[in-house]
Amino acid sequence: MSDHQGPPTGVGLPPRRRRAPRSPAGGIRLLLVALAAGATATSPSRAQERPDARARAHARNEEGVRRFEAGDREGALGPFREAHRSAPDEPTYRLNLGRCLLALGDARRAERRFDDAARDYHEAGGLLPDDPAPPLRQGLALLEGDRPRDARGVLEDAARRFPEVALGHELLAAACYRLGDVARAIEGWERALALEPDNALVRRALERARKDERVEADLRVDLSAGPFTVKYDGAADEALGRQVVQVLREAHRDVGAWLGRFPRGEVAVVIYPGRSFREVTGAHAWVGGLFDGKIRVPAAGLAQAPPAEVRRVLTHEYTHALVRSVGGPRVPAWLHEGLAQVVEGRARADARRGLTRATAPGLAELGGSFAGEPDPARARLRYAAACELVHELLGRGGAPLVAEVLDRLGRGEDLDAALRAVYGLDQEGLERAWRAGLP
Ligand SMILES: [Zn+2]
Repeated sequence: MSDHQGPPTGVGLPPRRRRAPRSPAGGIRLLLVALAAGATATSPSRAQERPDARARAHARNEEGVRRFEAGDREGALGPFREAHRSAPDEPTYRLNLGRCLLALGDARRAERRFDDAARDYHEAGGLLPDDPAPPLRQGLALLEGDRPRDARGVLEDAARRFPEVALGHELLAAACYRLGDVARAIEGWERALALEPDNALVRRALERARKDERVEADLRVDLSAGPFTVKYDGAADEALGRQVVQVLREAHRDVGAWLGRFPRGEVAVVIYPGRSFREVTGAHAWVGGLFDGKIRVPAAGLAQAPPAEVRRVLTHEYTHALVRSVGGPRVPAWLHEGLAQVVEGRARADARRGLTRATAPGLAELGGSFAGEPDPARARLRYAAACELVHELLGRGGAPLVAEVLDRLGRGEDLDAALRAVYGLDQEGLERAWRAGLP
């Protein structure tokens, strides 16, 4: 049986990062007022050269400040842009436009519009070249939007330009880790920790990456597999590695055709040689593979398994990677595990066996990770219930509607809102309808 450990904790995006880039809201308003006043004081000498343009720029800047002050960041952007365009050498207007774009980026990130946020931050970076905030937040937005390769490019440059900012190294490390470049991730986290020795999240991420590195350093990296970065022991597991790449490519194609979705970024895959899988993951004996941001599978288990079993395990874990990419961290464990089992081919009749109204766990219990369940019988029951539940959803409109629920969760909607919008049922209603159909 395969398992999913939920969204990556610590190594991906520690919650602290959400507020780590200094939040501009409060500070900017004052700054805007102060800067607007400064602009009035410094403009007369230049105003003699092109009085109309100067006066217009001044008026547009004032308009921008007024709107920004009133909380209308979007409405402030146009006036700030015009002021800057009319008087490009005026530092006040440049600064105000940059700060407005930063604030807009923050608002879009909060709405999970990560591509829009990254674009605003990028533009802000051109206006505020001495401020580390725009490129760091751009990198963060790209990471959150599942674009680690683009994030790495932005953050490498930011870490070079602002080597004294710990967050830059920390975010760069997270991007490298997501891309499977553990050695570079370790380097970044070490630099961040040297600058911020008390950062417990960085320390934990670093410990985990070092554990990974002890095994992965000796592995070959296969980059030929489309969106997958597959690492395996080139000497011992050559044939298995090729088989895994082939199966993952097919899963990418087939699950994509069924669900109508593909992962937005790279999917890192590690095939652990020998006994190293359990040493690194600490997974329970019944776990045949897991996804925790990377797909991790034991070579020993796969090499002995018939091809159908290899396909089942990898398709299951690939589905977790896809669901995570589309639905983000809000997807409950039952939806993850239910979809992964349906995709690997588990039939409703099989899931239903042994499941009754009395024994079936509730949605609340099925929301958290299944990996912590030490009792195999109990674990089997949870997987069966998750599979049954997803078949229940599929009976109400097929894969396209499930994909829409994932899209909505990915945009930041909560589960009840997403289920209600798509099926007209919240979690409670779904549980009631589902239980009523159980023996
Ligand atoms: Zn799973």
